[in-house]
Amino acid sequence: LIHFPYESILVLGLAKSGTAAATTLLEQGKKVRINDQNAKESDANVKQLKEMGAELILGSHPIRVLDGIEVIVKNPGISYDNPIVTAAQQRGIPVITEIEIAGQLASGPIIGITGSNGKTTTTTLTTEMLKQSEKPVKVAGNIGIVATDVAKNLHPNENLVLELSSFQLMGVDQFKPKIAVLLNIFKAHLDYHKTWENYKQAKYNIFKNQTKDDFLVYNAEDKSLIEAIKLSKAQKIPFSVKRKQSEGAWLDNEAIYFKEEKIMERKDIVLLGLHNYENILASVGAAKLSGATNEGIQKVLSMFTGVKHRLQFVENHCERLFYNDSKATNCLATQKALSAFNQPIILLAGGLDRGNGFDELLPYMKHVKAMVLFGETASKLENLGMKAQISNIRITKNVQTAVQEAYEISEPNDVILLSPACASWDQYRTFEERGDIFIQAVHTLV
Ligand code: ADP
Repeated sequence: LIHFPYESILVLGLAKSGTAAATTLLEQGKKVRINDQNAKESDANVKQLKEMGAELILGSHPIRVLDGIEVIVKNPGISYDNPIVTAAQQRGIPVITEIEIAGQLASGPIIGITGSNGKTTTTTLTTEMLKQSEKPVKVAGNIGIVATDVAKNLHPNENLVLELSSFQLMGVDQFKPKIAVLLNIFKAHLDYHKTWENYKQAKYNIFKNQTKDDFLVYNAEDKSLIEAIKLSKAQKIPFSVKRKQSEGAWLDNEAIYFKEEKIMERKDIVLLGLHNYENILASVGAAKLSGATNEGIQKVLSMFTGVKHRLQFVENHCERLFYNDSKATNCLATQKALSAFNQPIILLAGGLDRGNGFDELLPYMKHVKAMVLFGETASKLENLGMKAQISNIRITKNVQTAVQEAYEISEPNDVILLSPACASWDQYRTFEERGDIFIQAVHTLV
């Protein structure tokens, strides 16, 4: 580890990323103490860390875990209100996340991707574009693959694409990606970050150490970003879905472009929705800077049907187009999905009742010709449908029966869209489970 001047380290919260961090630090000859509320001595990873020489304090968070500690590697899920973290901050002990360690271990260039929304899509697209261009690439981070594990084995000419959450970025110090991508910033996660300023600051950590040899790819249309971007020392690569960017990525009605070069016709791109075009342009920017070819980019964008459960194209069954947007657990996400289509939509929606109304969807219902509703919020959504003067509204048992009913009332060229605007927990364990049931129901239609 190049800039890691600490010998005594507390790994707070084990999980997958803590295990990777502790293992790596022990391998580097550091003194490691582990504190975790739920881990047990009998867990395989705990046993192995103990054999490697880690000190274990499990079951509770006594304040003595800080004795003699120079730095904390904190699991991103642990709140800054945790008494150990608060006490550490009072004593001036730095609190970092595993991303800092990954950043120091990676010998190849890092492409770091963050934003309030669109991270997974952009991370996936960028990785695929490099792969299809035959550039060596690995992917990790918030996408569900521990960054340290991947960074450790990276070759010097291999790219590492990292999806980064604000929770992870809050704990970086020297982290310096070759290419940083900043998609957008909305007010989110304020329970964790407390203030909008803190949240923005965490996101901006992605470029704070960049120099003039690095690149910052950013959304030129996001007004909230502009002031901060001015502070960056990196070469700036804007992207825009609204106007030409001679220094970056942009589109017009026919095609997408990087600087003055045409990359690909829009008619050959499978993904839908303006938000996805933002993700596409950000990916094109990052991929082109990393040496991707236009052929590689074309291959990806002409085949990619969306990250699973995110406005994912499932099947064209008898000229009905089925889309799975199960990840849409709030109105904002369903607005994006509804805006993506110009043909008649049969909307499948409903789920956990959080007490909110659905009037925010009203301006987006123009193309909705029918609704098939399920779950706790079915009757609230029925009210919305009546306000939007939709004549065909049905209430049904679940996602599976909703697919059947939607198909029965559909005509050729209709879009049948699962975009529930609600969490799944009243009927399904996760939005993934709900989406999988949708996909299965579509594939078994006769
Ligand atoms: P994240 O990884 O940041 O959660 P995803 O790529 O998984 O983002 O997309 C999650 C949802 O966020 C999508 O289903 C869509 O509703 C919305 N979304 C995706 N990209 C954007 C974007 N560029 N701007 C605004 N919303 C977006």
